[in-house]
Amino acid sequence: MRIHQRENASRANGPGQRAVIWTQGCTLACPDCFNPETHLNQSGQDVDVAELVDWLLAQPAELEGLTISGGEPFQQPSALAALLTAVRSQSHLSILVFTGYTQKELLAIPSAAQTLDNIDLLISGRYIASQRVASSLIGSANKTAHFLTNRYTIADLLTVPEAEIWINPDGSVTFSGIHPLQW
Ligand code: SF4
Repeated sequence: MRIHQRENASRANGPGQRAVIWTQGCTLACPDCFNPETHLNQSGQDVDVAELVDWLLAQPAELEGLTISGGEPFQQPSALAALLTAVRSQSHLSILVFTGYTQKELLAIPSAAQTLDNIDLLISGRYIASQRVASSLIGSANKTAHFLTNRYTIADLLTVPEAEIWINPDGSVTFSGIHPLQW
């Protein structure tokens, strides 16, 4: 899987403490996208799905779930399907995926239906800056939260902080969340 970044202790990318994988590569070109450095699919790094699964399974027990963001995760449909199938079958982790596609568009992508079966919460739709909301994991009002299992409800989204900051070992700073502070 081509990824941009991963973190193992996020609080602003879904309910509870979560691992986050940002995929690399997106051609959807939403104006004013909040994560343009994830667009080029030549950037980032290739990581075996098996390595990502091992990394997730090695995390502390308090980890509640995995969030996949982007980039556009469904532009790597086979790798995404393999990753989420493995995580679902080998762990208790909840699975949240952000996508710029609508649910209808996803159903036209090979293997996406199988992938949806392994997702608890899907946040779907393009980011439209003029409809910016930036709360409860929804970037713009046109986006839809699909509760695909009974693991979460809208009340869980209200508990998610809108932003967080990590100080990295090399001293660099990473801003994350639906309303990152450098916006
Ligand atoms: S789908 Fe997401 S990553 Fe891609 S351009 Fe739109 S907001 Fe940016």
